[in-house]
Amino acid sequence: MTDPAAPPPLPYFPYHPDPLATGSLVPSRTRCACCGQRRGYVYAGPVYAVADLSHALCPWCLADGSAAARYEAQFTEVDGRVPADVVRTVEQRTPDFT
Ligand SMILES: [Zn+2]
Repeated sequence: MTDPAAPPPLPYFPYHPDPLATGSLVPSRTRCACCGQRRGYVYAGPVYAVADLSHALCPWCLADGSAAARYEAQFTEVDGRVPADVVRTVEQRTPDFT
């Protein structure tokens, strides 16, 4: 049985398995700047983008890469010692560890 009032389970971030515990995602009633939906959580970490996207993006737009694509945004800085596809996933689809 699922509680219809409960928020949906968060998307899975392979390189940041518990973003709620780290405070990277926070509960919020804010409408996501990317998909326009209120999804119960926003990303509270740093955003490397031209637009001001602080506390403005939902975890789902972050996880599927749509926020990164739409705003040419990055969320995490990675050094050069990891494979390029991993760098892309971490930079563009992973909440930062702050
Ligand atoms: Zn969204």
